Amino acid sequence: MVENIHSDIKEIKEYAKDNNIPIMLDDGINFLTTFIIKHQITNVLEVGTAIGYSAIMMALASPNVKITSIERDRERYLEAVKNIKKFHLEDRITLIYNDATEVKFSDQFDLIFIDAAKGKNMAFFKKFSKNLTEDGFIVTDNIKFHGYVDKDEKEIKTRNLRGLVRKIKEYIGFLKDNNEYKTVFYDVGDGISVSQRKD
Ligand code: SAM
Repeated sequence: MVENIHSDIKEIKEYAKDNNIPIMLDDGINFLTTFIIKHQITNVLEVGTAIGYSAIMMALASPNVKITSIERDRERYLEAVKNIKKFHLEDRITLIYNDATEVKFSDQFDLIFIDAAKGKNMAFFKKFSKNLTEDGFIVTDNIKFHGYVDKDEKEIKTRNLRGLVRKIKEYIGFLKDNNEYKTVFYDVGDGISVSQRKD
């Protein structure tokens, strides 16, 4: 059984690699799953499912965790549906096939994990923080954006990429200067931030 889980996870990771689908790096996912256990997280909102890898890993971290995850790409969403079935996690992972900018919830989540279009981090933070429990956390991945955030702008070749990096820097500034939330930045994986309301 455990062996099956390992080989099924390996298969998802290989599919992601072969199809150029970005999924969390190993130490990023370790950080996230450890965080879930440590803080006894029970209700996660994930923005950006891709093929369900991080959602499955979060669900496997604790039997008490439920995850709602949003994906706008049809092919990836369908692959995620398939993967979640394979792990028999349909009762704990709910997938929403839609653009996250269009999705509204009345539910409250104790962890909101932002891992979608990197230029929209701030918009998703503002939008979904309304659905965060009082002591809940907002975790954002790719804060370093493959090292580009620390590079001189002149070294970044395309205009698109420069624009994206600028938006991530703006997001970092927004988190650092935020009156309502305190944020800790972790140098793990591709850079992870953890925000929580100030006391
Ligand atoms: N969390 C996944 C994991 O580690 O297994 C990886 C997610 S991947 C980095 C980002 C995903 O977000 C992509 O599959 C992309 O299609 C999706 N995405 C981007 N913008 C989105 C949006 N506005 N609404 C919903 N999904 C979005």
